Amino acid sequence: MPLSDIRHQGAAQRLIQRALRSHRMPHAFIFAGPGGVGRELFAQRLAKILLCHNTSDKNAAESTIDGWSESVLDACGTCESCRLMAVDSNPDYHPIYRELHRDHPNTEVRNRKSLGLSIDVIRHFVNDQVGAKPVMGRAKVFVVRAAETMSIGAQNALLKTLEEPPATTSIILITPSANALLETTRSRCQLVTFGMLPTPYIADELQSRFAGNPNQLTADHAEWYAQRAAGSLGDAIRMHEDGLIECDERVRAILNSRSSDGITPAAKAMIQDAANLGEKFRQRDPEITDTEAQRRGLKAMLMLMSMCLREGLHKAAIDENASRRPSARAITDAIRSIATTERQIDLNASVQLCVESFLIRLRRALSA
Ligand SMILES: [Zn+2]
Repeated sequence: MPLSDIRHQGAAQRLIQRALRSHRMPHAFIFAGPGGVGRELFAQRLAKILLCHNTSDKNAAESTIDGWSESVLDACGTCESCRLMAVDSNPDYHPIYRELHRDHPNTEVRNRKSLGLSIDVIRHFVNDQVGAKPVMGRAKVFVVRAAETMSIGAQNALLKTLEEPPATTSIILITPSANALLETTRSRCQLVTFGMLPTPYIADELQSRFAGNPNQLTADHAEWYAQRAAGSLGDAIRMHEDGLIECDERVRAILNSRSSDGITPAAKAMIQDAANLGEKFRQRDPEITDTEAQRRGLKAMLMLMSMCLREGLHKAAIDENASRRPSARAITDAIRSIATTERQIDLNASVQLCVESFLIRLRRALSA
């Protein structure tokens, strides 16, 4: 797969193409931008170029890419290094991620639960490896996923490597925002920013990726997910895999219920839905706790509710015969109470209490 395959990231493409041509490639990068827009794929393709034995203009793609009208420098795709890269086993490509602690030689580190990138992972899998000669002879590339989850200790441990990496070593830190990293880390890296993807592109990609698959989706459903994914193809894919469109019906039922009694059973039902959704998140990330899974499920439901209400607000604004609907004011109040509840969940308030008081405020707002 060529670098030009990653679409709608013109700024990143231009910066990297210029650096590749200038033969003054920085050794440390921060790839900053929302998740699911191609940051890691881009890092992987760049690594392939840096590790390739025959990178040249001859590999230039015929078509031009977003905002770059010259030919595109790319990996050859046929050398030993490229072939190993294609099957995910190039020994000079080092993805660094939180779960690596499970492969650490020290039993104590292996058994520790870890929600971020620990200092042990950085020391053992980055610092201790950078000095060794590249196995395939050309270079070594380290790609640190979710770099913002590095503890301060882990970032400080990485500093020395960022300061003086061996000439053949490149390090790419992937993060939603460069500001989430320490100033000392930032100042040693070249920043490359990634933006949100256009909604129609996400809908098309979603449909083509799942085509012919038991999980394939209609154009309408692809559009539904794309509109809720806030410019992230990765989020759209996850939402589809989690079956969020079915959850949307439950959410609408909660919004339409107006009865003032029965708050406790309604809260129990909503929490159960959140737990079911959370269980799907946990299948992806087995290290999160029951409570954390439930919280994430609840936040996903609140996000759907908020979007559903915003749609209502939009309809109320364009439909003059909207008198039977809750007023725009009522909807705005309801959206506010969702935001309050999200904050309470982030502050680790009791889920049962949060949901009960939320449903009371929601019903009060919408029946006003
Ligand atoms: Zn190659």
